[in-house]
Amino acid sequence: MAESVLTASSTATAANPYITAQRQFDQAASILNLDEGMRQVLREVRRELTVNFPVRMDDGRIRIFTGYRVQHNLTRGPAKGGIRYHPEVSLDEVKALAMWMSWKCAVTNLPYGGAKGGVICDPRQMSQKELENLTRRFASEISLLIGPESDIPAPDVNTNQQTMAWIMDTISMEKGYSVPAIVTGKPLSIGGSEGRPAATGRGVMVVTLEACRRMGIDPAATTVAVQGFGNVGSVSAELLHAQGFKVVAVSDVYGGIYNSQGLDIPALLGHVSARGKVEGFSGASETITNSALLELPVTILIPAALENQLTMANAARIQARMVVEAANGPTTPEADDIFHQRGVTLIPDILANAGGVTVSYFEWVQDLQSFFWEEREINNRLTKIMQNAYAQVDELAQEHNTTLRMGAYCLAVKRVADATSVRGIYP
Ligand code: NAD
Repeated sequence: MAESVLTASSTATAANPYITAQRQFDQAASILNLDEGMRQVLREVRRELTVNFPVRMDDGRIRIFTGYRVQHNLTRGPAKGGIRYHPEVSLDEVKALAMWMSWKCAVTNLPYGGAKGGVICDPRQMSQKELENLTRRFASEISLLIGPESDIPAPDVNTNQQTMAWIMDTISMEKGYSVPAIVTGKPLSIGGSEGRPAATGRGVMVVTLEACRRMGIDPAATTVAVQGFGNVGSVSAELLHAQGFKVVAVSDVYGGIYNSQGLDIPALLGHVSARGKVEGFSGASETITNSALLELPVTILIPAALENQLTMANAARIQARMVVEAANGPTTPEADDIFHQRGVTLIPDILANAGGVTVSYFEWVQDLQSFFWEEREINNRLTKIMQNAYAQVDELAQEHNTTLRMGAYCLAVKRVADATSVRGIYP
C-alpha cells in the first residue's frame, strides 16, 4: 500500500528508534565491560519477518498491507511483545521495540525474551470489518512465529482487546481448538486477566510514587502533564489523580487541554468515551499543542504516546523535574544527556511501562494453568515486582554513578548476557 513507501526506514539518523536502542545498549555494554562477541549477539535482533498480505476492503477492492514480527532475543524464555497499527510503522521501529521488550522483561525478571509486531496502516481510516480482516490475515501470516511457547503478542498503539480476540480466534480456528495463551490483553470472557487493561498505567503510577518517595516530593503538591490519552496515558492520569497528584494537562493526536487548577480526570474520561478526543472538555481552561504540553512548568512530565518526543530540539526547554517514560522510546540519547546534565530525573521506559508485560505474564500463566486469580492479588503482585525492579535499578545506577536508564540497562543486559553465556552457542 502507499504508506509503505512513505515509511521506508531510514538507517542513519539519530531519530531512528533502532539506532537509539543500539546506542543505549552500547553505552550499557561499555559500563558492564561486556565481551565483544556478546555485544555483537545482543545488539542485533534474532529474527525479522516481513509479510505483504491482501485484505478485502469494504468497497470490494483488495489492498496489500505490509506487516512485521521481530524477535530480538529468546534466551530467557518465549518472545513477548505487542502489535502496533500505525501509518509510520517501519521495520527499524519494530526492531527497536523488540529489543526494548527484551530489556523490559529482564528488568522485571520475567521469563521472556523480546518481540514486537506492527502493520503499516491507518486504523482511523478503516472500518471495524476492515480491521478485523487485516488482523485475521496478519495473525495467519505471522503464525510461522507466534505461539504460547514461542512468541506471545499483546496490544500496543491502536490495537486493543478486540484485536487480541481476533488473533486468538484465528489461530484457534487454524489449530482446531482454543489457544488462549497465544496472546495476552484479551477480553476476560476468553481467558484475559483481571487488571490487564489498567496494568501499564498502574505500573506507571507505582514507579512515579516510588520516585516521589525517594526524592521527597509530596504528590499533593505535584503537577503532572501527560502526552497521549490512550490506554497507557489515560490510566496513568486516572490513577495518579486518584493518588492526589494534580494533572494539569493531557493531549492526544488531535491536540491537548490545560487547566492550572487541575483537570477532573474521571469527568474527562467520560468526555473522551463519548467524543473520542480530549478537545472540547468543559473542565479545561485552554487548549494546548502537543509540543507546548511538553514544555509546561510542571513537576512531572509523562510522555505516553510515541517515540522521539523529547529531543535535542526541546530538551533544554523541558521544565519538569521528573520525566516518566510511559511510552516506549520517547527520549533520544541527546535529550537523555541534556536531562542528566540539568539534573532532570528520568524513569526509563523499560522500567516505567513494564507493568503491562508483567500482568501479561500473569495472564499467560493463568491461561496455561486454566486457573484464574483475583484482581487484588494481581495488583499486589504487580506492585511488588515494580517496586523491586525500581530498587534494583536505583542501586545499580548509584553503584555505576549513572542514570536510572543505564541502571536499568545494566540490570537487564547482564541478565540476558548471563543466560546467553551459560547456554552457550548451538550446535
Ligand atoms: P493507544 O493507541 O491506546 O494510545 C495512544 C495515544 O497517543 C492516543 O491517545 C493517541 O491519540 C495519542 N497520540 C498518537 N500520536 C500522537 C502524537 N503525535 N502526539 C500526541 N499524542 C499522540 O496506545 P497505548 O497502548 O496507550 O500506547 C502508548 C505508548 O505506550 C506506546 O509507546 C506504547 O508502545 C507504550 N506501551 C503500551 C503498553 C500497553 O500495554 N498498551 C505497554 C507498554 C508500553
